[in-house]
Amino acid sequence: MSTHTNPPTPRERLVVVGNGMAGIRTLEELLAKAPDRYDITVFGAEPHPNYNRIMLSPVLAGEKTFDQIVLNGRDWYEANGIKLLTGDRVEVIDRANRSVTAMSGLTVPYDRLLIATGSTPVIIPVPGSTLPGVVGFRDLADVDTMLEAAAKGGRAVVIGGGLLGLEAANGLKVKGMDVTVLHLMDTLMERQLDRSAGALLQHELERRGITVLTGADTAEIVGIEKVSAVRLKNGQELPADLVVMAVGIRPNTTLGKAAGLACGRGIQVDDTMTTSDPAILSVGECVEHRGQTYGLVAPLFEMAKVAAARLAGSAEAAYTGSVTSTKLKVTGVDVFSAGDFTGGKGCEDIVFRDAARGVYKRVVVKENRILGAVLYGDTKDGGWYFQMLKDGTEVAPVRDTLIFGQSFGGEGAANPKAAVAALPDSAEICGCNGVCKGTIVTAITEKGLSSLDEVRAHTKASASCGSCTGQVEQLLALTLGDGYAGEAKAKPMCKCTDRTHDEVRRAITTLELKSIPDVMQRLEWRTPDGCHHCRPALNYYLLCEWPGEYKDDSRSRYINERVHANIQKDGTYSVVPRMWGGLTSAKELRAIADVVDKFAIPTVKVTGGQRIDLFGVKKEDLPAVWADLNAAGMVSGHAYAKGLRTVKTCVGSEWCRFGTQDSTGLGVKLERMTWGTWTPHKVKLAVSGCPRNCAEATIKDLGVVCVDSGYELHVGGNGGMHVRACDLLVKVETEAEVLEYTGSYMQLYREEARYLERTAPWVERVGLEYVKRRLVDDAEGRASLNARFLFSQSFSQDDPWAERANGSVDRHEFAPLAQVG
Ligand SMILES: Cc1cc2nc3c(=O)[nH]c(=O)nc-3n(C[C@H](O)[C@H](O)[C@H](O)COP(=O)(O)OP(=O)(O)OC[C@H]3O[C@@H](n4cnc5c(N)ncnc54)[C@H](O)[C@@H]3O)c2cc1C
Ligand code: SF4
Ligand code: SF4
Repeated sequence: MSTHTNPPTPRERLVVVGNGMAGIRTLEELLAKAPDRYDITVFGAEPHPNYNRIMLSPVLAGEKTFDQIVLNGRDWYEANGIKLLTGDRVEVIDRANRSVTAMSGLTVPYDRLLIATGSTPVIIPVPGSTLPGVVGFRDLADVDTMLEAAAKGGRAVVIGGGLLGLEAANGLKVKGMDVTVLHLMDTLMERQLDRSAGALLQHELERRGITVLTGADTAEIVGIEKVSAVRLKNGQELPADLVVMAVGIRPNTTLGKAAGLACGRGIQVDDTMTTSDPAILSVGECVEHRGQTYGLVAPLFEMAKVAAARLAGSAEAAYTGSVTSTKLKVTGVDVFSAGDFTGGKGCEDIVFRDAARGVYKRVVVKENRILGAVLYGDTKDGGWYFQMLKDGTEVAPVRDTLIFGQSFGGEGAANPKAAVAALPDSAEICGCNGVCKGTIVTAITEKGLSSLDEVRAHTKASASCGSCTGQVEQLLALTLGDGYAGEAKAKPMCKCTDRTHDEVRRAITTLELKSIPDVMQRLEWRTPDGCHHCRPALNYYLLCEWPGEYKDDSRSRYINERVHANIQKDGTYSVVPRMWGGLTSAKELRAIADVVDKFAIPTVKVTGGQRIDLFGVKKEDLPAVWADLNAAGMVSGHAYAKGLRTVKTCVGSEWCRFGTQDSTGLGVKLERMTWGTWTPHKVKLAVSGCPRNCAEATIKDLGVVCVDSGYELHVGGNGGMHVRACDLLVKVETEAEVLEYTGSYMQLYREEARYLERTAPWVERVGLEYVKRRLVDDAEGRASLNARFLFSQSFSQDDPWAERANGSVDRHEFAPLAQVG
């Protein structure tokens, strides 16, 4: 007898066109509801996996790397059995045969189709708008174009003073361009902010060195082969190397229209997110629903939920439109607006201003109900006002204190924890992803979440624009009490300021702050003279940013760097002369022996970095010891410095039978090029003549391993307490390339790592891919980093010993105590 089972029913085929935020959110929701229902294929015109478009601004400003904004990496698609086709735009929908055909020629049949093609930037059709050098601000390719232009410096004109324009302006300014924003209306972001808040924002941008021209109407973009200026209708001409058009977006209906779907401003859908063809759904910015189109993620995610439920088989799910509030971070300033804030007859305006804190709030009330609200600088009550607006709550009982926010009268007006505690469970915390307080608290307790990242991963709260991060942290603190350790990442520099290292650094660049008192004054330091944490960091950041202009402040250095020798546990010092590439000579050894005898130096030791260390030197003898060593041609080995320490080498092809290249000679060249530099922390290099790696090059900050065909460059290694093997950065053929890569790598580290961060944690933090993108993929950027490194070296290669041995610098440091004063 034979048994027989039915063949499995073939799964339905779902094709998604558009690998962006709305399309993939729909898939996430669908997989949660009906993981096995479809065979899914996703087409994306961009060559990348799904990323958080909102975060392109931080990528432009250099605050985040692309890897950090990826929402679903390729492994996610693989794990969920989704076929992902990137860099392949769908060009035709054949509705009769139910298939799509992409640019590559590939045709894929579907049972259900989801169109999520987003929108395209509006390019105003003035003469010159198609010139090279004119970009929109929509995707990673636009950001790359802007970064490339910014690397050359020069001038940028941003047309459009809305959210995108201002984010672009800020990013380009941070990247060193001269930026002018042209805005047609007379206040910025007029659709989200009232005049007062718009003016505050303009003032803030101008304070950061961005020029803002309102009432500016563009007549022409001037240029022959590429853009060179923007001419306004009033005749004014603004020179420009880059023009960013950020005047609006248009739903991307090209595909839908060509397929004959009903389209107005967008692809028209009903409450089930279905288009005029029952087999085709659509979500996102490309959609028109009940006559409305949307340009923020919150409503798109609501659409995604409904589309997913329908695809999963629900007969009930319906989208009825969204009331939107805008909670944004514009160039680091929190702004919030909701409802109608134009005011007018029968409306009452309640306004609060605190110029010193840069806070402005306006609540518009009509017939005892909130009609609209605008908050600038302090948005923590945005959710509360929005909830009352949506619910139509009577505000008469709290009318007198309404403007001071929810916590007023409770635990004090400025207590954000009390404000969050007082919210009902239904209050929306994350506007982008529509997550309310109850959902977050339940996830924290039921799933045992204890960090912001975990809450983001499980609930998506604060995973998009991030402006509700503070409230989510308050919820973690409220729910876990002492069990919440806080978020380590956003730690302020020290107790003298609330700003992080990165924020202070950006301010030094954008506000052109050139001295420690300047920084402390402009950034409103809490202490008059800083502390031992911030002073050395500020000194370093200023040295790095303004080579040749800023003068090192030795008072802001730790003792070892101040006296150019390492203090030992008995209070004496150790002295290490530089030995280029670990080479020495009879003359140098003789001079060292003489110094040891003359100053009765008790211990002489060979170090791990191939140098000779003289231990037990008295502080007052240091200048004389250095003078004697200088006389034999030796300079400081900087064994105490947050700077280049040593370049360790093996004997290489000159003596060793395995050697493939002259590793010692290359090590000497590297050391001659890099000595004297100041870096966030110490830096050690090494060159090994073959993969046997006798110089241990693969646990250095940068290590070169010579091979038959050239040189492997390894980065981010560390042999200290936390051993980390290097990552391979690149393989090159010539010594000249090794030198250029080394200079550019050192400069990238100098410019972007935080003070006291070694290269190993820095590379781990920013990701090897980022370092590769900056150094390997971008030859021009690499050359300019190297040029900046060499320029800064032209001011830093003075031997600090010589300056002090002859008594011209810091004489007081070395006088015996009895003589001081
Ligand atoms: C710089 C920036 C900052 C922003 N900041 C905020 C913010 O703070 N808050 C907020 O709420 N919103 C913000 N937004 C808006 C938000 O990013 C969008 O609302 C959201 O990304 C729209 O999602 P979507 O899926 O509809 O479109 P998208 O995310 O644009 O995805 C559409 C995708 O479809 C692809 N595509 C188009 N045509 C085809 C085709 N024929 N074949 C294959 N693929 C195709 C596109 O290449 C694109 O990758 C910002 C947008 C930008 C650009
Ligand atoms: S690394 Fe290679 S070339 Fe250098 S000493 Fe060792 S075996 Fe010789
Ligand atoms: S390994 Fe420890 S004891 Fe030895 S020199 Fe380094 S810090 Fe001092």
